Amino acid sequence: MKIPLTSPKLNIKKNQKDILSAISKVINSDSYILGKEARKLESKFSKYIGTNYAIGVANGTDAIELSLRALGIKAGDEVITVSHTAIGTVFAIEAIGAKPVFVDIEKIYYTIDPMQVKKAITRKTKAIIAVHLYGNSADILKLKKLCSSKKIYLIEDASQAHGAMFGKKKLGSIGDVGCFSCYPTKNLGAIGDAGIITTNKKNLASKIKKLREYGWKNRNSLFYGRNSRLDEIQAAILMVQLKSLEKDNLKRIKVAKFYNNNIKNPKIILPKTRVGCKSVFHLYVIKTNIRNKIIKKLKQNNITTGIHYPIPIHKQGFYKKTKANIKNLEITEKISKQIISLPIYPEIKLEQLKKICYLLNNLT
Ligand SMILES: *Cc1c(COP(=O)(O)O)cnc(C)c1O
Repeated sequence: MKIPLTSPKLNIKKNQKDILSAISKVINSDSYILGKEARKLESKFSKYIGTNYAIGVANGTDAIELSLRALGIKAGDEVITVSHTAIGTVFAIEAIGAKPVFVDIEKIYYTIDPMQVKKAITRKTKAIIAVHLYGNSADILKLKKLCSSKKIYLIEDASQAHGAMFGKKKLGSIGDVGCFSCYPTKNLGAIGDAGIITTNKKNLASKIKKLREYGWKNRNSLFYGRNSRLDEIQAAILMVQLKSLEKDNLKRIKVAKFYNNNIKNPKIILPKTRVGCKSVFHLYVIKTNIRNKIIKKLKQNNITTGIHYPIPIHKQGFYKKTKANIKNLEITEKISKQIISLPIYPEIKLEQLKKICYLLNNLT
């Protein structure tokens, strides 16, 4: 019995019939890019998240890049974010020539520390990108207040948090913009690349719509624009996937509960959900000082684990050569050596979870 870290295939297979018929509909539509399906998805997703607008783009990294561009952030501006995230968060900042400023994370939740953000704000700071890591919310309300008082923009990277909540609000509906990746392993996954941007601001939505297609208004390029279009097949697939997102998220939450209740090893620290929030457990990440031993033991038993993320971004090769503004990142650096992502996906079986817990509780 092999247990993968995640399995987009099992998820897709459950909806295979509906997906195949959706694809077939697209084939017969004679419209393959930014057509009816993309518009339907944008409308459904904005309703789901609770924003006035949603804009489909090519991937999650582009979602962030286009949001930064639409907000008018330029070369030389500073954008505060974390080093403990997927590289796409940071390379979106690089793509527009702005300067990422890395700050440390909260010890308990591993998301951006508002206290550190406050200290890092300068006259050049134009935006903050808060990453809702592993499906758990960043301290987004505190960040929103801080951003309002300093007149800087707040971007939510919700690529791991489709359907997660802070209080009664879905993540991606709180900042100026929400950015989602629909990479196949994400909670809402396509069968290829896709991304979605959410916002309540009409001007911003309209600018992003132009930016994703050559800066066009009626095929006249009003400004520099990328090609970051969403294709109809991915949009149609995502419509099917969106229908089962809530159910799948609940299954992930159940898996997390099982781990919480059944991992009993003093050497393992379990993840904590921010008080008053709903995590959708994109990942289930434990912390331990005996990481290698655990990974090895699970591997011997055909269980795949992951590390998200093993090298903090400021320590990666690219940043040895750049002028990224690096603060004290003690917690980031420390936990990168302690974290392990355990298998989690809606289709994982009780027997498999029991086996993983047994192994974790009986390390010899
Ligand atoms: C996946 C992910 C991205 C990048 O999304 P792509 O679709 O791969 O470009 C950005 N940020 C976070 C937090 C992610 O998990």
